Amino acid sequence: MSYLRAVLKNDTALEISHLKKIISLGKQLNINTSKYENELLKLTKKQQDKKTLPEIKPKKQEPKPQITSIESSKYTIEKVYTKDNMIIIDFYHQVSKNHINYEIEKTKYANYYLFNLKGSFKDAEPTKLELTNINRIYVLQKQTNLLQIKVKNKNSLKPIYIINNKRIIIKFPTIQNTTNNIVNKTTTTTSKTTSKNVPKDIALSINKYKKKIVVIDAGHGGKDAGAVGPGDKYEKTVVLSIGKYLYNILKQKGYEVYITRNNDRFIKVRNRTVLANNKNADIFLSIHANSVPKSKAHTIHGIETFFLSPARSERAKRVAAKENQSDIRTMSDATQESFLMVLNQSKITASNKLAIDVQQNMLYSLQKKYKDVVDGGVREGPFWVLVGAQMPSILIEVGYISHPKESKRLYNRYYQELLAKGIANGIDSYFLKNP
Ligand SMILES: [Zn+2]
Repeated sequence: MSYLRAVLKNDTALEISHLKKIISLGKQLNINTSKYENELLKLTKKQQDKKTLPEIKPKKQEPKPQITSIESSKYTIEKVYTKDNMIIIDFYHQVSKNHINYEIEKTKYANYYLFNLKGSFKDAEPTKLELTNINRIYVLQKQTNLLQIKVKNKNSLKPIYIINNKRIIIKFPTIQNTTNNIVNKTTTTTSKTTSKNVPKDIALSINKYKKKIVVIDAGHGGKDAGAVGPGDKYEKTVVLSIGKYLYNILKQKGYEVYITRNNDRFIKVRNRTVLANNKNADIFLSIHANSVPKSKAHTIHGIETFFLSPARSERAKRVAAKENQSDIRTMSDATQESFLMVLNQSKITASNKLAIDVQQNMLYSLQKKYKDVVDGGVREGPFWVLVGAQMPSILIEVGYISHPKESKRLYNRYYQELLAKGIANGIDSYFLKNP
């Protein structure tokens, strides 16, 4: 158990002590332990390097958008009102993210959520707003062209705002009961998704108050080609290309994005999540392509999204076995079992939600042009690449490279871009619902 926690927490000291135990046990049993000794040597070195490194710098504050005061006698804000746990601000003109600036002030007694809006509102003083579960809302004309909405609350709130045309909506997602850690089984069971109920590009109008951090992992690379399809089509090539498209789309949408590799090089499975943990990522996505033996190559195709959990189905176990084989430390079945036992249940639930949003949006994006793309559903499985990630994480199998038609599509740049757009929309959708 201690070893599991060590890896999950990225605790080198604990890993070292565990490795030492394995080595001494191996020697007693006359087993070759050179592999573990090498690992131990590396970890010891890593630990020494770490000690000489300076303290991790605090995260850089994003520059706050400046709200300039423009002298204007005209009122630019038509209405400010509340509805269904939202504050709605209607402008006389189109608004952009430059019209709002959000900050939090925390004091010993209460939290103040300040929304600074570029604009002037005639009825600022007499306006009184009320929302359930929120202590107080003030609307103040601070300057000629600066309206402030100040929300005071004892409990922590996680507001999001949406900018749409001439309107800004400030939403307060229902305060969750954090004491309830028992997750209803039905929320984590795998589900077949349909692409019918996906909202249309809602993502475009969303602005997040804090940049979300996404780490993309392009699977395999270098000496590890991953699955190989007909005509020497490599999984490592397909997933790198899709990963790069996704990287650019997410950057454009305003996310802070990192990718584990942007060229054809080998990375150990266990090092892939290190980047995500170091960057304190909000989500981690590993991109892969699936394959089946030749006898089934013509019949099996489609997209699947996996999230990490103790695998239940044989199919999930098979896929996991394939994706895991490239580079992992050998683990006994008992170790694997206990590894999965320590998984955080709330992380599993969040990963499941993310998987559903991504799967739905990928299909929605592709099926506009390619009607016959098959929905392989959202599934769970014991993927080691996801084990080390401290944040919600998923593994996407973008299709079967073993299938003649699908492998051709997977090499098609337009198809790759549609896939990436779908994934990006899925991410938007996930953060909208889980800010
Ligand atoms: Zn793979």
